[in-house]
Amino acid sequence: MSHTTVTLTSDEKRRIQAILDTLERLYPDADCELRYDTPFQLLVATVLSAQSTDKRVNMVTERLFKEYGTPEAMAALEPEELEPWIKELGLYRNKARQIVHAARMIVEEHGGQVPSERSALEALPGVGRKTANVVLSNAFSIPALAVDTHVFRVARRLGLAVTKSPEQTERVLTQILPKESWKQVHHRLIRHGRQVCTARNPACFSCELRLFCPSAQAPDDAR
Ligand code: SF4
Repeated sequence: MSHTTVTLTSDEKRRIQAILDTLERLYPDADCELRYDTPFQLLVATVLSAQSTDKRVNMVTERLFKEYGTPEAMAALEPEELEPWIKELGLYRNKARQIVHAARMIVEEHGGQVPSERSALEALPGVGRKTANVVLSNAFSIPALAVDTHVFRVARRLGLAVTKSPEQTERVLTQILPKESWKQVHHRLIRHGRQVCTARNPACFSCELRLFCPSAQAPDDAR
């Protein structure tokens, strides 16, 4: 990621705080919507969630984790044996290969424990920066801010991070937001993006952030 430094005026700091306070009021309990009991299950669910809804992933993992909920059980499979369990999800062949190979690496190189270091996580097949951030913040309570499509879009419209890539948005957001807010902001921006500030038709007229949002006056252009 680039290392651009962001400097905020006091007005901008106040605007950001108002956005954080409003998001907290609107979505006090926003949390990870993927179901999991262990860091490994969260890792698998997050890999499965690419181009699939969390609801669909939860339906798949409810069955899958009863049989193959540990790295050891998953590592013993061939990818072709995992495919039928996840075939209703997008990209299931790729995902099956990535998950089985990641499970084998976790067993062989990390003693069966999902590593809690970013570099070791990102070395696992199928694990990019976003998935690593999800696992670090949710499974290990290590401050990290995952930027998915909702976070990228809503942060851009709100003028928090107007960038060209999720990596740049993460860089900006982690500079301007307090570390202790990163995990909740991630979940709250996702909720706002799903429920109000949707990709095609943002509901600016009923949005409680409109007073702080530079895109609010022209919702049709808020892309
Ligand atoms: S005012 Fe419109 S563009 Fe701004 S956050 Fe709300 S829905 Fe999104």
